[in-house]
Amino acid sequence: MFRFNELILKHTDELAELITLEHGKTIEDAKGDILRGREVVEYACGIPHLLRGDFTEDVGSGVDAYSMRQAVGVCAGITPFNFPAMIPLWMFPLSIACGNTFILKPSERDPSCPFRLVELAHEAGVPEGVINMVNGDKEAVDALLTHADVNAISFVGSTPVASYIYATAAEHGKRVQALGGAKNHMVVMPDADLDQASDALISAGYGSAGQRCMAVSVAVAVGDDTGDALVAKLTPKIQELKIGPGSADDIEMGPVVTRQAYDRILGLIDQGVADGATLAVDGRGLKLQGYENGYFMGGTLFDHVTEDMSIYTEEVFGPVLAVVRAKDYETALDMVNRNEYGNGTAIFTKDGDAARDFAERVQIGMVGVNVPIPVPVAYHSFGGWKRSLFGDTHMHGMEGVRFYTRLKAVTSRWPKSGVREGHSLTMPTMT
Ligand code: NAD
Repeated sequence: MFRFNELILKHTDELAELITLEHGKTIEDAKGDILRGREVVEYACGIPHLLRGDFTEDVGSGVDAYSMRQAVGVCAGITPFNFPAMIPLWMFPLSIACGNTFILKPSERDPSCPFRLVELAHEAGVPEGVINMVNGDKEAVDALLTHADVNAISFVGSTPVASYIYATAAEHGKRVQALGGAKNHMVVMPDADLDQASDALISAGYGSAGQRCMAVSVAVAVGDDTGDALVAKLTPKIQELKIGPGSADDIEMGPVVTRQAYDRILGLIDQGVADGATLAVDGRGLKLQGYENGYFMGGTLFDHVTEDMSIYTEEVFGPVLAVVRAKDYETALDMVNRNEYGNGTAIFTKDGDAARDFAERVQIGMVGVNVPIPVPVAYHSFGGWKRSLFGDTHMHGMEGVRFYTRLKAVTSRWPKSGVREGHSLTMPTMT
């Protein structure tokens, strides 16, 4: 793992280029994708400590108890297109460090970076057969979900597929963690610093062209004055976004991943207009000279969005931000809690009371207080609630170690030779 970490560091530029070529995100953003994944490799370097068991002496007369974490066996990981470095690295380094073998099935849309990572793992000394990669789509996935030799499935992707993966793999007797889609709300309180909040919304709404599972796609402005002021601050920032190929200098936002994604996002924007939302910034119709066939779109901002509109209910997964107005804090909190997804959320405020209440009562797995994209660091764990995660265990951190290991409890006695206690049919107790 130490060697693997070094190799990823050494090859960061090359890996970032592979990501940008296939995914479209900017080179700097691709480097962030790699860094956040590499942090899990660093975490896996501490595996002796993480696998340490517990021991209790004399749980009964002359009886000791201890526990150990052992490998699960063959694990498989199915990953989405949007983080071709970070998400495979959430999975296979920790799985291998826990003593398992691993089969990675990356997204068919950008498999080159995952492939290179597997090559680097081999170069670092991972033995043949311990880390494997298979390409494909549903057919390859189904083979893994139903194969008798596979013991555990890690999945990250959209909610309909996550739900299918969870049900199918569980039916075939496997341990499953299946992370799904998201609709992340950022609540902006009337006392928030709106310069900071609007900058945060631009980063979280339009970074990676909105194709992050932790992207903020809904800004909940508390009070109409907050909503008006927020939209006024956001509008010029969105209009000034520097859009172009991810490999070019000084670019903030690249294209979306495929023609299919492009058409789908345009369709959702059209529907938002038809449903009566106010189109404050229209990102449709952007054509870049020399890239007329590229999937580039400008940032879009909707205002006065309501909970019944598809622009609110659907995960857009594109550079589109919806502003929803809430009359007070409780209405905003209810809206976040009512939403079917529970991946990430944030509150922007100067009021410690409100922030603390929000962190305590919100029904979401990852919460930011004045932090727009609260992705936990590698030694904490990543995972949502509700329809953003099927299964029980989050990714990496101790949750990751628990997922990739089975707990064994041993109760042991070494009686003095010749001493007999006779038999007893009552339940064994401390006495
Ligand atoms: P996706 O669900 O289309 O694909 C994910 C993986 O599943 C791919 O490897 C794909 O080949 C496979 N797959 C697709 N359809 C399948 C099917 N019918 N049966 C079996 N396997 C199938 O997701 P995507 O478009 O690659 O990624 C974007 C989605 O992932 C968004 O919904 C986003 O929110 C979500 N995501 C979630 C997290 C999280 O941590 N919760 C992180 C990143 C992305």
